[in-house]
Amino acid sequence: MTTATTGTTSAAGAPVGRFGHLSARGANAPRSPRRPRRGEDELRALAAAGAAELGDDAPAEEVVAWAARAFPDSLAVACSMADAVLPHVIAARIPSVDVLFLETGYHFAETEGTRDAVAETMDVTVIDVLPELTVAEQDERYGQALHSRDPSRCCALRKVAPLARALSGYEAWATGLRREDAVTRTSTPLVGFDEAHRIVKINPLAAWSFDELLAYASEHGVVVNPLLADGYPSIGCEPCTARVAPGEDPRSGRWAGFTKTECGIHL
Ligand code: SF4
Repeated sequence: MTTATTGTTSAAGAPVGRFGHLSARGANAPRSPRRPRRGEDELRALAAAGAAELGDDAPAEEVVAWAARAFPDSLAVACSMADAVLPHVIAARIPSVDVLFLETGYHFAETEGTRDAVAETMDVTVIDVLPELTVAEQDERYGQALHSRDPSRCCALRKVAPLARALSGYEAWATGLRREDAVTRTSTPLVGFDEAHRIVKINPLAAWSFDELLAYASEHGVVVNPLLADGYPSIGCEPCTARVAPGEDPRSGRWAGFTKTECGIHL
């Protein structure tokens, strides 16, 4: 049950949270590698070995057991706080594992509450990954509500670049990507080498359905964002996430009105 922050703070030193207001969260604590990272060739070989060992459909627990052997102290878990299933599955093998939350400053209050509940109740270290600019500073530099005019630029500033900086201290990251999420994700591997971040990418839940995810959360009492049951099967920043009617594409509420379908961290 630990919390930390990496990225932007206010002039007073406090983390800047929702819509540019000050957050009451932990003190700024930039992460740095615990030891020298292994070289890219070694990480590529590890990814290939893991993929060969696990195939396409190994159970999530086996994937995490492999990850715990390969990266016992150099794995980060990315979590959007739609639910905490992935952190729960991984923390069972790697207690106090680092959980990276992209604190864009634009999240729903329910998402912030889910983040706080995860930090308070689970054996993980939640790290708020902050952009270089606060929302107010971004408004000043790029004009008000950049997300409504150029969401790709906004995501690049508030999600893609901060995540890349945060991941530079790790050898591997785990994500909650699932193949049924979107047509662009149908071939998501359990393990692979992430060419964008030059580290190993692990997707333990890739083969899971949404119902399996909810069943796991229910069985294990895992924290779930209340918006999931309120018409938001895919949850991003508040200005860029709309309710979805039953039976519609779960991600159709993301960046409605734009051709954009991904924030960019998985491209
Ligand atoms: S999802 Fe919307 S508000 Fe959030 S970073 Fe992307 S464009 Fe900006």
